[in-house]
Amino acid sequence: MTRDEERLLRRAIELAAQARAGGNPPFGSLLAAQDGTVLAEERNSTLTDRDITAHPELKLARWAARELDPATAAATTMYTSCQPCGMCAEAIARSGLGRVVYALSGAQLDGLKPPGSAFVAPPAEGPALYDEASLPVKGYYT
Ligand SMILES: [Zn+2]
Repeated sequence: MTRDEERLLRRAIELAAQARAGGNPPFGSLLAAQDGTVLAEERNSTLTDRDITAHPELKLARWAARELDPATAAATTMYTSCQPCGMCAEAIARSGLGRVVYALSGAQLDGLKPPGSAFVAPPAEGPALYDEASLPVKGYYT
């Protein structure tokens, strides 16, 4: 990692501290162009917005998909204070961002949380009703 990249990653950590100071979970992220220009910054706002999806990485992915053309998005790097969660990782993939650089890993984050604080997915059932469910999908992805 270059010194410029470390500077951008430190900015993401600073945004995480700002999120915490503002009453939210401590996570921050930014999106940078290839030359290091910061295009957008976000802080976690899940508590103040009362929105479980208000992770900074997801907000940046949505912004990039809305505001950047695909080539520009592919040339960006997201610098984020923590490895993106599954929700954000999928949004980042869908938004076409070029690269992600993170500080804390998900495992390191888990080590900083009290035991038993992980999210538990509910039981899921399926597949079912293939013939009916596939009708509106067939022919869409051609
Ligand atoms: Zn997330």
